[in-house]
Amino acid sequence: MSDLPLIPHWINGAPVPSTSGRTAPVFDPALGVATKNVGLANRAEIDAAIESAALAFPAWRDASLAKRTQVMFAFRELLNSRKGELAEIITSEHGKVLSDALGEITRGQEVVEFACGIQDLLKGFYSENASTNVDVYTVRQPIGVVGVISPFNFPAMVPLWFVPVAIAAGNTVVLKPSEKDPSAAIWLAQILKEAGLPDGVFTVLNGDKEAVDGLLTHPDVAAVSFVGSTPIAKYVYETGAANGKRVQALGGAKNHMLVLPDADLDLVADSAINAGFGSAGERCMAISVVVAVEPVADVLIDKLTERMAKLVVGDGRRSCDMGPLVTEAHRDKVASYIDVAAKDGATVVVDGRGIEVDADAAGFWLGPTLLDRVPTSSTVYTEEIFGPVLSIVRVASYDEGVNLINSGAFGNGTAIFTNDGGAARRFQNEIQVGMVGINVPIPVPVAYHSFGGWKQSLFGDTKVHGIEGVHFYTRAKAVTSRWLDPSHGGINLGFPQN
Ligand code: NAD
Repeated sequence: MSDLPLIPHWINGAPVPSTSGRTAPVFDPALGVATKNVGLANRAEIDAAIESAALAFPAWRDASLAKRTQVMFAFRELLNSRKGELAEIITSEHGKVLSDALGEITRGQEVVEFACGIQDLLKGFYSENASTNVDVYTVRQPIGVVGVISPFNFPAMVPLWFVPVAIAAGNTVVLKPSEKDPSAAIWLAQILKEAGLPDGVFTVLNGDKEAVDGLLTHPDVAAVSFVGSTPIAKYVYETGAANGKRVQALGGAKNHMLVLPDADLDLVADSAINAGFGSAGERCMAISVVVAVEPVADVLIDKLTERMAKLVVGDGRRSCDMGPLVTEAHRDKVASYIDVAAKDGATVVVDGRGIEVDADAAGFWLGPTLLDRVPTSSTVYTEEIFGPVLSIVRVASYDEGVNLINSGAFGNGTAIFTNDGGAARRFQNEIQVGMVGINVPIPVPVAYHSFGGWKQSLFGDTKVHGIEGVHFYTRAKAVTSRWLDPSHGGINLGFPQN
């Protein structure tokens, strides 16, 4: 093992260095060097983390709603006042520019604010005198220890999609962050403790597949929320369900922007640049395909290339538009799709390989790339690339565009750009995708709605945060009650009828 600092687990309210002897390097992507190691949990550490969360559950479950939401309010205040610290951590391990890191924290903070008002969603309902002197009421109760497994691309926002709702609802949480950028999770754990969260209610278990499998199979884990690539999401869903867990597993994406000929093409170009290259395209809601209904493609390409020429790629800590990719291996994989595109007959309009940046040359750089006339049979079109590569597919009509989008394997996000209200309304009705933007390129719903895609983008039937998130982390109990006044009701072998 190297002399680099070791990122610990967070168990029972304190940092716990791994003693498994297994570690993974954590890189600073703009420098291209490993700056830390993260310990990867072994069986004993997995068990210790889950047991601590299980032990903390009964007291936290019984903590009053007032107490639980007070902790959330305090957490919100600390997060809001110190988000700059967290943004720097994210940029140093993920590479995204600081403003974007702050943006993801703000979107996560919205879920904390939502959780501050969870009382209203946990109220249940009551029917007085459902039968004579019989009342029926339904309450929602927490489910126990919840596992959260998160991807590298949003090291703060994705955990914050789940953790505030699960904890405010009375559960305890074991978070397994991505081993590529795990420090944000430890920072969140410290802040939650400062906010007054009792030890054991929030745990960070660092690790890889072994830790994920531990959460999926341990008898004390009641539910698992997962976000990551589609093959792993499917595996997590199937394995968790086979072990009796409640599972929501969000997978990959291939998001299309349909551009109708009447759209404002300057708005389209700005939106496609923001949604295609923001966070170096490492967003599950990034636009990766522009479906141009002819004759708009040539004009749009001119507008895109003009804007792309002005994008500054560099170290996200300095003033620039786009940072590096997360690892060298990921950068090389994304770049390899540009070769494939050329081989499959697409036109490489702007090639981001070999871009010169005003930053450390060892960083994991790949410039914004634009591909035209991408064949829909190419893996460049069918597979998720997850990098700054924007494809254009030309179609002859609205119907051809919608059929293309609906025939895809993923169904996370999509957008239509048009000034025709009727076409937009038809699109929102016909499109087989879970989150739809109308002249909005990245339609991530606010915290009090629920986030989640369709088809291969979400396994399980419950979306994230909003009312669906509250339902995922609670279960309903229906109580039928009779208080006898003054005496007993007599023998009756049938159901009460009046
Ligand atoms: P990933 O699937 O490689 O990793 C996600 C998590 O799974 C990590 O915590 C990782 O440690 C764990 N993992 C990796 N290999 C595993 C294995 N073999 N068995 C069990 N667990 C394993 O994903 P990533 O590269 O970190 O993140 C990018 C992916 O996440 C993209 O596909 C992106 O679309 C997706 N994503 C989806 C959403 C959404 O809302 N649908 C949001 C963010 C990211």
